[in-house]
Amino acid sequence: MNIILLGPPGAGKGTQAQRLTSRRSMVQLSTGDMLREAVKAASPVGLRAKAIMEAGELVPDEVVDELIGNRLDQPERYSGSGFIFDGYPRTEAQAKSLDRLLGDRGMKLDYVVEIEVDEEALVDRITGRFTCAKCGAGYHDRYKLPKVPELCDVCGSDQFKRRPDDNEQTVRTRLAEYRAKTAPILPYYEAKGLVRRVDGMAPMDEVGASIEAILDS
Ligand code: ADP
Ligand code: AMP
Repeated sequence: MNIILLGPPGAGKGTQAQRLTSRRSMVQLSTGDMLREAVKAASPVGLRAKAIMEAGELVPDEVVDELIGNRLDQPERYSGSGFIFDGYPRTEAQAKSLDRLLGDRGMKLDYVVEIEVDEEALVDRITGRFTCAKCGAGYHDRYKLPKVPELCDVCGSDQFKRRPDDNEQTVRTRLAEYRAKTAPILPYYEAKGLVRRVDGMAPMDEVGASIEAILDS
């Protein structure tokens, strides 16, 4: 089963993708994570993307399409229980590319799960976000602190990090990009009957249960 998690920055896509990965062995494909790795490695893609990401704008479609295509071409890395597209597609052109990338490989999308959230909650969620520097597990200053203070629940590391683009100014640009370019792709998937909605304002476990109910339906 292959799904897209769609929603504005801070909606909880990464949180829910990590949950599905551990509960269902699905594979998270986050273009944001791939781009951050490229920036860290100072690869040609990273050098091209760095300033765009820092500004909160979208990197060009062909860059992310290629990142996703490359991952789909490495089936030996994956268990075969399905992909979760997280942060991709973000434009109608990317949505069409994804159809082609999947179709060429004999795959298809099963659901597009839209995580609905109140915009006022997003700045608060994003400015409080941090992750384990070792395993990437996600946390929040108020909504999800490690069970043992300052030690990652998953791997025990005491190293955490925050994203440079998780500041109020950039979040506002990222939200504007979402409204202008990403939300308009919903009708494309609605026409295909793929869209399901969950209440992203509910506690994380409830959101997760709603998503699993959709996958089991
Ligand atoms: P996205 O991947 O959509 O940008 P994240 O999954 O990283 O969003 O979530 C953003 C922040 O909000 C994280 O710090 C996460 O711990 C927190 N968060 C996620 N889902 C919820 C929720 N349902 N309620 C409260 N906080 C949440
Ligand atoms: P994310 O981790 O999904 O919040 O993405 C962080 C940043 O990476 C975004 O603000 C964009 O600059 C860039 N990015 C991630 N995914 C895409 C995509 N599918 N299309 C364009 N830009 C992207």
